[in-house]
Amino acid sequence: MSPAVYASDRSRNQSLPHQTTPSKKRLSDGTIKPTTIRLHSISARPPQAPSAPPTQHPTLPPTTPQDPPKKRRGRPPKVKPAGSADVTPKAAQPSIVSKPVTEIRPRSSIPYRLPANVFAGQCIDAAYAARLNPYALHPSEHALLLHLLMKQEITVYLNIRNAILRLWHQNPLCSITAEEAAGCAKEARFFGLADVAYKWLVRHGYINFGCVRVPRAATVNPRARRNTRPKTVVVIGAGVSGLTTARQLEGLFIQESTKWTDAGEQPPRVIVLEGRSRIGGRVYSKPLRDQTSISLPDNLRCTAEMGAMIVTGFEHGNPLDPVIRGQLGLRYHLMKDALTIYDVDGKPIDEKRDMLNTDLYTDISDRAGDFRATPQAVETLKGDEDLINRCRDPAPDGLEHFQLEPLDAVGNIRQQKPATRRGRRRNAPPGTEKLTGRTQVVEGSSATQSAARAARSMGWELKEGVAKNQSVSLRGIASASAHPSLGSVMDDAIRQYQDLVQLTPQDMRLLNWHHANLEYANAAPITSLSLSGHDQDTGNEFEGAHSEIIGGYNQLPRGLMNLPSKLDVRVDRVIDSIHYNQDAFSESDYSTKVVCTDGEVIEADEVVLTVPLGVLKSDMIDFDPPLPAWKRGAIDRMGFGLLNKVVLLYDEAFWDDERDMFGLLNEANDAGSLDPKDYEKRRGQFYLIWNASKTSGKPMLVALMAGHAAHETEKTDTGQLLAEITKRLHSIYPTEKALNPREVIVTRWRRDPFSRGTYSYVAPETLPGDYDLMAQSVGNLHFAGEATCGTHPATVHGAFLSGLRVAAEVVDAMAGPIILPTPLVGPAPVKQEIGPPKQSVCAGDSSFWVQPTSAVQDTNPEATIMAAIFAELGERPVKPSRPGVNPFLLYAKDKWEECKAYLAQTKPAKAKPSAGGREDVRATLGRWWKGLSEDEKGPYLVQSQVAQELADHGRREWGEKVAKWDAEAARIREEYRRGLSTAAVMPPAEPTQLEAGLGVSKRKTNVSNCVVLDHV
Ligand SMILES: Cc1cc2nc3c(=O)[nH]c(=O)nc-3n(C[C@H](O)[C@H](O)[C@H](O)COP(=O)(O)OP(=O)(O)OC[C@H]3O[C@@H](n4cnc5c(N)ncnc54)[C@H](O)[C@@H]3O)c2cc1C
Repeated sequence: MSPAVYASDRSRNQSLPHQTTPSKKRLSDGTIKPTTIRLHSISARPPQAPSAPPTQHPTLPPTTPQDPPKKRRGRPPKVKPAGSADVTPKAAQPSIVSKPVTEIRPRSSIPYRLPANVFAGQCIDAAYAARLNPYALHPSEHALLLHLLMKQEITVYLNIRNAILRLWHQNPLCSITAEEAAGCAKEARFFGLADVAYKWLVRHGYINFGCVRVPRAATVNPRARRNTRPKTVVVIGAGVSGLTTARQLEGLFIQESTKWTDAGEQPPRVIVLEGRSRIGGRVYSKPLRDQTSISLPDNLRCTAEMGAMIVTGFEHGNPLDPVIRGQLGLRYHLMKDALTIYDVDGKPIDEKRDMLNTDLYTDISDRAGDFRATPQAVETLKGDEDLINRCRDPAPDGLEHFQLEPLDAVGNIRQQKPATRRGRRRNAPPGTEKLTGRTQVVEGSSATQSAARAARSMGWELKEGVAKNQSVSLRGIASASAHPSLGSVMDDAIRQYQDLVQLTPQDMRLLNWHHANLEYANAAPITSLSLSGHDQDTGNEFEGAHSEIIGGYNQLPRGLMNLPSKLDVRVDRVIDSIHYNQDAFSESDYSTKVVCTDGEVIEADEVVLTVPLGVLKSDMIDFDPPLPAWKRGAIDRMGFGLLNKVVLLYDEAFWDDERDMFGLLNEANDAGSLDPKDYEKRRGQFYLIWNASKTSGKPMLVALMAGHAAHETEKTDTGQLLAEITKRLHSIYPTEKALNPREVIVTRWRRDPFSRGTYSYVAPETLPGDYDLMAQSVGNLHFAGEATCGTHPATVHGAFLSGLRVAAEVVDAMAGPIILPTPLVGPAPVKQEIGPPKQSVCAGDSSFWVQPTSAVQDTNPEATIMAAIFAELGERPVKPSRPGVNPFLLYAKDKWEECKAYLAQTKPAKAKPSAGGREDVRATLGRWWKGLSEDEKGPYLVQSQVAQELADHGRREWGEKVAKWDAEAARIREEYRRGLSTAAVMPPAEPTQLEAGLGVSKRKTNVSNCVVLDHV
């Protein structure tokens, strides 16, 4: 994990306590000496007092540390254990909450048939897939646990956390329950750690996010529903960040609902207000006029992507992977990056020349990269890497350190780490790589050698008289301005290279094509990009081929809105002003008002603003009070760029339909010029053309307009653009078909009042912490959107991540920080080695070769406690039975025989066989009862009333007795807990959520199942 991950996390804005190795001692009651236990808030607000701070781990069930994993929970095993026919779970319904579980055992979420090394590898992969360092705490975990964990426990915690992530990443179609998380602990005394890991992962959106039904913590008291109004969170903007925020908040409010239900309130509600009449924001798949398609599967529409189009690699941390592939099961087309570039005359560029220029460009960007600002490393507590690579917990105290098995089977774990510096593929240009998720930094950069040597090794011929050690110096141009731009430095490098090698006009067009590609990735001319920070997100790239969603990327926002239940999204609500509460510490009570341009006012307790940076810059929304100077400053300093597209629809493809893209070179203003400046205006015009046929269902090309060309597009009419692109295409494919597009769509994102451009970039004036400032809330006004995600800006996944981040902040603000169980870790049992168990997750792990000594003889502490309670208090008083009398029953009893005799006399058995039977008697008595006067009924009414009063009295007495008995029983339990008895491990005092078994879901291994979306 890059240290910059979750830069915008609230905890990062606090000064992170310096990494220390806690040199403390955990006492037998599980507390740490001598540090006083502190609960760390990750919220800027003071922690709200929990209604009843748990004195015991709230989810600790009555199990003992040495309990074997009797019942497998979690994922079904690949190999069915012999002789256990009942371990294979029934086929699970996606996202359905299953029957309660009443008994939790450690290790029950760890498949004991899986070799430990394989299991460890899966856990480590899962941590990377969540953008977390498997070997170290995230800064926010660090802040939470710094003073609470012993050194060895950090490894245990990380093993548990990684194992929970493994469960999630194996099947994100099912949410993880607290019980399953507890099952990732290898000993019951670590249930507290599992509880914290689970809560932290849930709160921060590492598990149970996206379109999945989450476990419900509690149901709302129906009376409370009538009497209290739920708090309201208003999310402004229904783009990916806004919908993710709302979806995540809904999920957190369900999972953490006890925070409100315990106080007799309903969990908060979420309202999304969207200015446009559609959702998705900058993810906009515009439906085509003609919907007939032969290539699209049923139910998918023919669309053209006006905005985002590419998923930049699914592997190594893309949070959209579990949603797009795991939950929504969307179809996607994996793109090939084979690329042919055509020159201005329509002829393809010679591959060798292309490579020479690509290498030269790479060298120049490496030299410019020397001026990159180095991100500040954030050190957090680390676990034992060797043990984590084997998913083994440290040996308990008193045991000799065990021998670690060789790492053969997990030797390749290191290779799975993000390949941020594995080098670039030779034919892939840097800008494309940025959007495709590949690195921009080459290992062993050529910038370490002189420019002349580097050029020679690339294959360039040096000009006559050039010495081998002659180089280019960029220091002068880089320090000429207080805010140097990437473009000025790179162009200077090109000029200096012209002294070393002979660059032709074609070479200049090729080098400028690469410039255009960078301008596409950043949505800005390179002269508007910061030299030191334009690629500040480097190192966070994902892996795997990039892809396009078949049938339209807007299936993602639609899925977020509709699944698992529809969000309250209100379109056509253009926000005019926000009257928010700047004082984060005051109870708002609807002090915040969101006003729409049509006069509608929506009251809120918390507001999340997700409008694009361009909208914030345009002052379209009034803030009352005005945004503070630090926020305004960041908005002004950051760049918001432009990229446009010209979409062309044909009757038939005339290009190589197996290719996904091709490039076009552009001429300088002054044809044949060798001055880099002369190329900047036109180099981005149709510089890259995507073949979108496979995803749109129609023969379609999408031409990109980057850099200055993007701005020109806003002013140029469609007819002229069409004529220009048609001329270029016809020069490459001289066929009639190229002359007759059937439909043309041109985007003009700058003109769009709800966007004012395309995405954010790092301008020369932008300061290193500006993305974090953009993310920071002002009172009860919170911010999300791609421009608040410093680690993954300008992307759909960045928008998604910002939604997860802000949802955690809002819940921190409304519900307070995560409540930690005390003690966090139960006391370690005194152990002796007896040899390995028959089946263990780590057969060679001596931490499992244990059995209690005489100090922990009590294998069933609950039984011991109950015996002590019964000995002292006797049996718990039995509830008296109900009186079981009413006036009619008393009357019937009284008159039964009389009635029977009457029937026998009046109705001969021959006439009616049932005459005089029980039913007949009861029916006749009913008629008699109805015919009685009030006076005649009187005695029976009195008798029944007396019986009822006696019963009420008995129940009241029983209630008092039972309350007293329960209080005494709790006292005896507490005495045991304090160590006054011989019981070693305590069960919880109260029935817990675990015992209640609420919100347990069945898990399913196969993730390819998809939820079919309805297409609106
Ligand atoms: C042309 C283009 C190509 C792109 N290509 C890619 C790509 O290939 N891959 C990739 O990952 N990313 C790409 N992106 C970037 C990606 O689309 C965005 O980063 C992401 O969609 C931003 O999501 P968001 O929720 O932050 O903002 P938005 O999607 O813009 O959502 C903000 C919402 O706020 C609403 N709003 C604005 N003002 C108001 C108001 N006053 N009142 C009410 N509502 C308002 C807007 O209508 C909008 O729905 C591209 C973007 C563009 C424009």
